[in-house]
Amino acid sequence: MSEVGSVSDPIRLAHRLDQVCASQTQQVLVAVEQLRRQGVDVIDLGAGEPDFPTPDHVKTAAAAAIRDNFTKYTAGAGIMALREAIARHYAERYGVTYDTSGVVVTAGGKQALYNIAMALFGPGDEVITHVPGWPSIVEQIHLAGADPVRVRTAAEEGFELRAEPFLEAVTPRTRGIVINSPGNPTGAVMSEPELARLADGLAERDIWLVLDLCYEQLIYDDTPHNLPHVLWDRLADRTVLVGTASKSYAMTGWRCGWLLAPAAVAAGCNVVQSHSTSHATSITQRAALAALTGPQACVETMRDEYRARRDAVLSWLDGDARFRVTRPAGAFYLFPDVSELLSPDGMRTSADFVQALLRDAHVAVTPGEAFDAPGFIRLSYAAPMDQLREAWRRIQRFLG
Ligand code: GLU
Repeated sequence: MSEVGSVSDPIRLAHRLDQVCASQTQQVLVAVEQLRRQGVDVIDLGAGEPDFPTPDHVKTAAAAAIRDNFTKYTAGAGIMALREAIARHYAERYGVTYDTSGVVVTAGGKQALYNIAMALFGPGDEVITHVPGWPSIVEQIHLAGADPVRVRTAAEEGFELRAEPFLEAVTPRTRGIVINSPGNPTGAVMSEPELARLADGLAERDIWLVLDLCYEQLIYDDTPHNLPHVLWDRLADRTVLVGTASKSYAMTGWRCGWLLAPAAVAAGCNVVQSHSTSHATSITQRAALAALTGPQACVETMRDEYRARRDAVLSWLDGDARFRVTRPAGAFYLFPDVSELLSPDGMRTSADFVQALLRDAHVAVTPGEAFDAPGFIRLSYAAPMDQLREAWRRIQRFLG
């Protein structure tokens, strides 16, 4: 039986899909699940999701929502209490003041970005983003009928996001710039001065800056990162912020994200959403409300654990000259260059490497090809330390 989402059938699909491929990050999830169904003991460093359980007080709020029959439609943009909580979170954390008319709750950060792409971009527009980068950003730009323009960041520079290359990529057709910081898969955090330079360079231009902050609570080093405020001071009427409960609160499966934007853009995003998913699940919205307004110690505990794991895996990779890796400041990925391990008569590409590693060593990672960066692999360290240790043992045995 073919996987759902396969487009190999001789059926003619809409032209819209000619340039779009299925999410490669999600394909790793599917491959792992298939092997596990066959009883194979796979260590999954592929999926970009927290291994921690959703905090208890969040689950309790969801159970209460079900018990109270809070199981019907809500307003498309989300329940008011959650929109208020989101606005408060950004006001307290970053000093930016959004009215609830500028807040839309979505089914995950991914839907927030999708709504924005559909509401702001269209045929003839260019939208700049950075690679290596999360594949859905480029594909959503394609789905909106616009043309993605890729700015490449360099491993030798720690995948630093600098203003200059973005400004150089601007043309009269540029309609938006999408920045993901901390970035998936590189973990790079854009610096405040670089974002300020970019925003200043965009002044007086009809260009939107979409800031994807999905990993905002997972920054490990003491680096100033009040990016929303940098934009608030310079480009508030051209900025859209995106966030999610998925990563901070270990809630990936609940599907809850949000966007903050000028009211007219939020309204446009809500139009898109009103004709697709309608709204995020009512129960999830109550859970997300508990996450945002409840105790935040769980976020810190998870962050501390991720930091320790990052440092451990980084030291293992650093000790093996075949991997060239940069130190990520945030998110929960390491993105080593594995080209030393590739050869024309063996594993030719990082995708071959990833396939062989899964088949022979039962360790799942994501190929750099998924992020427009062949020659690299992405290892998620959102897995318990003993599994990370065992994965590294298996990788060493596989390479030995
Ligand atoms: N954001 C995660 C990742 O990069 C989840 C997969 C996806 O939705 O793309 O692995």
